[in-house]
Amino acid sequence: MDKHTLIEEIKRLKKEKDAVIFAHHYQVEEVKEVADIIGDSLELSRKATEVQEQTIVLSGVYFMAESVKILSPEKKVLLPVKDAGCPMADMIDEEKLEGFKADYPTGKVVCYVNTSAEVKAKSDICCTSSNALKVVDSMGEVPVLFIPDQNLGNYVKKHSKNPNVIPYSGYCITHHRARKEDALQAKAKHPEALVLAHPECRKEVLEEAHFIGSTTEIMNYAVNSEKQSFIIGTEMGVVETLKKEAPEKNFFLLAPSFICSNMKKTRLEDIYRALKEDKHEIHLDDKTLQAANSALSNMLVLLK
Ligand code: SF4
Repeated sequence: MDKHTLIEEIKRLKKEKDAVIFAHHYQVEEVKEVADIIGDSLELSRKATEVQEQTIVLSGVYFMAESVKILSPEKKVLLPVKDAGCPMADMIDEEKLEGFKADYPTGKVVCYVNTSAEVKAKSDICCTSSNALKVVDSMGEVPVLFIPDQNLGNYVKKHSKNPNVIPYSGYCITHHRARKEDALQAKAKHPEALVLAHPECRKEVLEEAHFIGSTTEIMNYAVNSEKQSFIIGTEMGVVETLKKEAPEKNFFLLAPSFICSNMKKTRLEDIYRALKEDKHEIHLDDKTLQAANSALSNMLVLLK
């Protein structure tokens, strides 16, 4: 099928199956073009509870589709590419978490949303990159076991009122690849540009940033700023979206390595097949679903 026919078929199947397509900002452009809603993982999970359609096709990675299912268990959630995973989420599982907890028996677990449903189910509360500090500060002075991202964990530890934040050793392979030299080179090449970086980046990169925020915060900052030029320290999909949203401004990627191969796996053909054949439906057992829902809901209550 050519691209035009594929898009028409996707539209037809969406109506027939009462479906809506969600896409993460890091997805390839052709996927974002057919998406009904584009957002970061928190926005997509929240939107899932608001849309009327019974089927949600989640173009992203596995943990995102699980989060949507956890918050909207009555809906059918489809992940078009089954092995679109997240290496950072895979760095911790239930067993490793139990071992971490055993080292700090009085600790509470704050779990970044980039984790499996099973790990969320064993955590006290979830967080995203935009609210991690607020979530950690809400826990009082107990030791906080922050999983799985060491970079976000260390960023939170530096700014938190709680002196007892203990980050786990995981990291995002995409953001962790960028080094201080990349930031310095980008700044030397574009001295007029502000550096906007995601807290999943190493400390040495964050130290070179003018602004640190989540994907959505970076995008809002760039669009609303009076400045014209920005070096973007997060996945390249954000640069593509920003170029469309603010075509009069200049956006440069901080390092060419800012590409998440898992986020780039989904193509139009996969979305078409997902809709046509109900592929690949997310199933979670009730116990995991309820416990993970509790950790996610504890975060959402805090944000109200
Ligand atoms: S960008 Fe990093 S955290 Fe996000 S899906 Fe890719 S590997 Fe996982």
